[in-house]
Amino acid sequence: MTYSKDNINNLLAQVVHPGTGKNIIESNLVSQLNITGRKIEITLSFDNPNDPLKSAIKRACINILKDNLKGNPEVDIKLELVKRPAPPQKEGILESVKNIIAVASGKGGVGKSTIAVNLAVAFAKSGLRVGLIDADIFGPSIPKMLHAEDEKPFAHKVNGKDLIIPIERFGVKVLSIGFFIDPQDATIWRGPMASNALKQLMSEADWGDLDYMFIDLPPGTSDIHLTMVQTVPVTGAIIVSTPQPVALADVIKGINMFRNANINVPVLGLIENMAWFTPAELPENKYYIFGKDGCKNLAAETGVPFLGHIPIVQSIRESGDSGKPSVLERGVISESFQTVAEKLKDEVLKRNRLIEPSVKVKIKRN
Ligand code: ADP
Repeated sequence: MTYSKDNINNLLAQVVHPGTGKNIIESNLVSQLNITGRKIEITLSFDNPNDPLKSAIKRACINILKDNLKGNPEVDIKLELVKRPAPPQKEGILESVKNIIAVASGKGGVGKSTIAVNLAVAFAKSGLRVGLIDADIFGPSIPKMLHAEDEKPFAHKVNGKDLIIPIERFGVKVLSIGFFIDPQDATIWRGPMASNALKQLMSEADWGDLDYMFIDLPPGTSDIHLTMVQTVPVTGAIIVSTPQPVALADVIKGINMFRNANINVPVLGLIENMAWFTPAELPENKYYIFGKDGCKNLAAETGVPFLGHIPIVQSIRESGDSGKPSVLERGVISESFQTVAEKLKDEVLKRNRLIEPSVKVKIKRN
């Protein structure tokens, strides 16, 4: 019994990498395929050493070949780590990042950073290469949420240039304005100083190739938002809010800012945080402290996709304080973050299929 390469490639093309949504043939993961009689030898080459899905993909390949090929094939799959040649140094800032997602909110304290952290970690868990910039100068809370508040990032030389090395936590590369300023001084960091700091985090750090970069913005609309859209092409924005009317009024301002003809950043979704309270001892009970479905209804009114609800639960606050994101735990809370992450990935894929890539904003000042 001999097997044909075409037949095997067609079967392998049914194995999809859940992180990228692409099958393993089109994403060039299959680097070798040798057939000797009943024996099929395959090498899968990964370029992300932290890809947590390597063994799951190997198992899926074995299953699909054994289930579909007659004659009981002997399937041997090797995994190798390849260092793809470093891409030529690109001039543009964050040019090696495929998707840049701004995380915004109308008001402070609605859980924007909590959502940014959990989405970034959920994306990394699914095998994507992810970065996270904490640009919330008024409350840089991400270092604490990732148990990295005492980190002082180093720099190293890349092609003769000193670049900051991002800290890595749970598979996510992170830099925060909080690593470089004392939070006590945040209030004097307004205006140009804060904008320059954000530019540095984007342009003078060794981010490497990334599938996604999340940028956690300060609440409201600010100079930092303008600096971001003028410095890098932002793929899309997501907006986090609690469901009560006073918070929603500011969400509308945020949507209008991103949709402004001069800015033109697609709003990829609204996320309703603190949607209801569930006490641990009464898991079936839901108390709609801030009102019910405010964000969901606003999403329908404004034509922005609704990405999901996250309840208010003590464990989310505790995870934020202890530096281990909730999405890493098991259970319904982790699942609610993962559902939002999957919906966001779909919206990004849809956006990239339907709309031209974003460009940097050029704003004329009078
Ligand atoms: P923002 O970035 O909008 O200022 P944070 O993400 O820093 O808000 O959240 C503010 C506080 O609320 C933090 O202590 C965080 O742990 C807590 N928090 C956020 N979302 C939830 C939630 N769904 N359940 C419980 N606590 C939450």
